[in-house]
Amino acid sequence: MYCSACQREVIDYSNFCSFCGARQSPSVAPRRLMRSAWDKKIAGVCGGFSEHFDMDPTIFRIIFVFVTLATGLLPGIIAYIVAWILMPQAPYVVTPAGAPHSAAPQSPAP
Ligand SMILES: [Zn+2]
Repeated sequence: MYCSACQREVIDYSNFCSFCGARQSPSVAPRRLMRSAWDKKIAGVCGGFSEHFDMDPTIFRIIFVFVTLATGLLPGIIAYIVAWILMPQAPYVVTPAGAPHSAAPQSPAP
């Protein structure tokens, strides 16, 4: 593969060019926002946000509850239902260690 800045050949899958230091574009597709398959209280929306942003799901749930209460319930409930409809369900994957885990596909399906 070639550096997008200096056009020199760099090692495949490297994040930075060893000649000019320019950041190389990631070779994998960006992670999709999906509802969590296993970390869910209702539909996995907050769990999906926490997995996408790599944060504690409890923080998202607390923020969601406070925002819902502060806005008079209905906007938060509608937002949750819209997210439930629009966010696809993450596939349920069991890792070799046995722990359930939601996995976003690394590349689009062929
Ligand atoms: Zn370069």
